[in-house]
Parts: sequence; C-alpha cells; structure tokens
Amino acid sequence: MPHPARLLFATTLLLAAGCTARRPAEAAYDLVITHANVVDVETGTIRPDQTVAVAGGIIRQLGPTSASAPRAARTLDAQGRYLMPGLWDMHVHFRGGDSLVNANRNLLPLYLAHGITTVRDAGGDLTPAVMEWRRQITAGRLAGPTIFTSGPKIDGPGAFWAGSLEVETPAQITRALDSLQALRVDYVKIYESTISREAFLNTIAQAEKRGMRTTGHMPYTVTLAEAAAAGLDASEHLYYVFKACSNREDSITAAIRQSQGTARPIGLFAALPAVYRTYDPATAARTFRMLAEQRTAVVPTLYIQQLLADLPTTDHSRDSLLAYIDPKIEATYARRLAGVRQQSAATRAFNQQLGARFRSLIPGMQKAGVLLLAGSDSGASNSYVYPGAALLSELDQLVRAGLTPAEALRTATLNGARFFGLEATAGSIAPNKAADLLLLERNPLTSLAALRGIHTVVARGRIYSAAELRQQLQAVRRR
Ligand SMILES: [Zn+2]
Repeated sequence: MPHPARLLFATTLLLAAGCTARRPAEAAYDLVITHANVVDVETGTIRPDQTVAVAGGIIRQLGPTSASAPRAARTLDAQGRYLMPGLWDMHVHFRGGDSLVNANRNLLPLYLAHGITTVRDAGGDLTPAVMEWRRQITAGRLAGPTIFTSGPKIDGPGAFWAGSLEVETPAQITRALDSLQALRVDYVKIYESTISREAFLNTIAQAEKRGMRTTGHMPYTVTLAEAAAAGLDASEHLYYVFKACSNREDSITAAIRQSQGTARPIGLFAALPAVYRTYDPATAARTFRMLAEQRTAVVPTLYIQQLLADLPTTDHSRDSLLAYIDPKIEATYARRLAGVRQQSAATRAFNQQLGARFRSLIPGMQKAGVLLLAGSDSGASNSYVYPGAALLSELDQLVRAGLTPAEALRTATLNGARFFGLEATAGSIAPNKAADLLLLERNPLTSLAALRGIHTVVARGRIYSAAELRQQLQAVRRR
C-alpha cells in the first residue's frame, strides 16, 4: 500500500505544479528537501518555500511545502536556504600522461566541494581513465561530478598536446572520427597547433554528417563565419570570436594564409595586435548575430585569460588551494611560468588590454542571444587555475563584464545542458531533471558570493554535507 502522506503530497504537488507526470506510487523517495527557496535560473526568480522530492537520482516532484512532508529515506529541512541547480564547468582538462592518473582523479573532490556537479572535459590524454571514473561515479563507487568528455583532441601532424589524433587527409579524418565514435565520446574537440584550414573544415563537416557535436580552437587561416557555417557548435576561448570583430578579418586571414608554408608563418599571437587595432563595434554586433543564428556557442574563459595576464606580477606560492593540487600537477605549471619570464613589458601590457577587451564582448553576445558557456580551463599545465574555485572566478568575471547574476548562473547551469541538447533532463530544478542541486546559505541572484557558502551538494541524488565535502578534500590534501 502506498503511504497516505506520500499520496497526499504527490496529489498536492501535481495540482500545484500543473504537472501530469506521475511516478510509481510504490517507489520511495530517496531524498526530500523541504522549505527551500528554489532558484529558477531560467527566469532569475525565487520560488519560496518549496519541497523537492528525489528518487533514483532524478527530481520527481517540485511544489510548495505542505504541512505533511512526504516520507523519504532522508529528509532535509532547508529552513529557507537557497536551492539552485548544480554548476557545470564547461571547459576542464584531465591530462598529463599515465603517471598523472591518480593526481587527476584527486581533482574530482575539488569540483564537488565548490558545487560543480557536471564538467565537460575538453580533451586530454587520459581517456580510458576518464571513462572508468565516469562508470564509477555513475555506479556510486566514486564521488565526483558527471563527466562529459571529448576524448583525445583532433589536431594536425606533430600536434602540441600529447595524445591528439593527428589528421591531414580526409581518410585520416574518417579514421579519427571512427575512433572517437568507438570511444563513445560526447563531442569532438579540435585544436589548432598544426591543423590545416582544409582538415579543420573537413573535420567539422564530417562530424556534422555523423551527428557529432564539434567545438574548438580554430586555425587563424579560417574565418569564424566559415567555421560556424560548416557546423562548429562552440568556439572555445575568445580569440576566434575576437578576430571576427575586426573589420579587417578577411585581409588579416588572407595574410596569415599566405604566410603558411613560408619561412615565417604568422601565428595566432603574432596576429592579435592587428586584430586588436581593427576591432569594430558594428562588425562585432554582426558577428554576434551570426553566432546566435548559427547556434554556435561561445566559451569565454575570461578568468584564465586574466590569471595568465596577471601571472608575471602574482605570487601564487601561498595559494591555499595549492595544498590540494598534486605536486606532479604543480610541476606541469613550469611551462607557463617559463613563458611568462620571457614576456616583454609590451606583451604584458597588451595582455592586460586584451583581457579588458575580451570582457567588453560579453554583454553584446548575451544581448544577441549567443549561448554563453562558463568554463574555467582548469587542469594540468594551466597554472593555478584551481578546479572548482576557478569556475566561481569565471562567473565573477562574467558579472564584472556586465552579466546579471542570473545570466551568469545560466552560463553554468541551463546553458551547459542546452549545449548537449539535454535541457529536458538537466540544468535546472524541475521534475524529470537530474537531481544535481546546491543548497546555499544566501541568495545567489543577489550576489554570486553566495556560491561560496555551500550547505549541501546533491550530485545525481547523492547527498554531500559541507562536512563530508571537507573530509573528501582532506583526503586529497598534500601530507
Ligand atoms: Zn582548454
């Protein structure tokens, strides 16, 4: 017999939410949260005094809290705290070779402890390990965020990043995409250290035919409009969008193409000052409209850009979060630090200007309806971009750039789900969506500082109190 209180609850909620979906009455709820101020990230409003019922990792019911709480294995009285969807970090990396598998796995608690319940791995060389963690997390044997992954990156011959699939000919592209499909990756990530214009566009076109999503860096020999028209689903970082905000994009691109194969090929960073000088607001507005029309998402990664610009003048050796980073990962920071030491004063000044200019692009993209995705770019080699905390800093940057807290929160919740076509089953608090939840002491719509006051994290229905999250961090802390 179903418990009467549960039936009453279900009926009340069905009426309140106007929802026709009915869960089997014999199944018990795993978790019920009562008296929560639910943050509706879509509308940027609060629904006061709500009850959320979870079973099997899915939100089953949502509605006003009634006198009789439904029975559940665990009940949590939120006491007016704020319940929002778990955060998505849409650009992270697991990488560094087999000797860093454990060091990378030990980053998983950092994500959860900062309220990140989903990450998108943007390419690395640890795909078998990442797939194994994913299985273990789903089975409840490992604590961590839901992982979406591209598997290895696609790039050209002699690629910069280890483990990349190197393509030049159409047959090589076919083989690379076959291997990614066999791995059952969630999307295709393209990098531009050596890939040719033809191979880049061909990879997007072939992936498009197979129904695979593509994102990438972009060789500067391609225009953003060409990549978007070919079917690129997201532009990682702002360099490529920025180039398309120049009123000389065509001639700059042509000069770069002509320089390829010569003794002095022009690379991305060499071309940036010319792009900067020819930035044009009207061209930028047209570019943003084009991105919205083509449904090409943008992952701004403002925080890492600013962190790297500030690196020459910042001492990170006393960062408290460094204690949770394996020394083997810290050792991978050396390359960036060496690069910084070689920077001229002019380069340093330019990088600061670039950060400000990048931020200035954000409101226009938001207004044009471009799908913005919050990504931290945390992972080995990206010095001091701490998993978890860096995503919160990225959201701060997006607000600093002009987004409202609600708009910024969407870039790290609903928009992530939208990118993967999963908005019906994830990304906000609603029946039939994944039970990825954050219970906060304060209202994040008022200030994103509230994200730093976590009471409880729920990841696919599994509950982590602040104390448990602290314990998990202690377990990976350096001795
Ligand atoms: Zn990256």
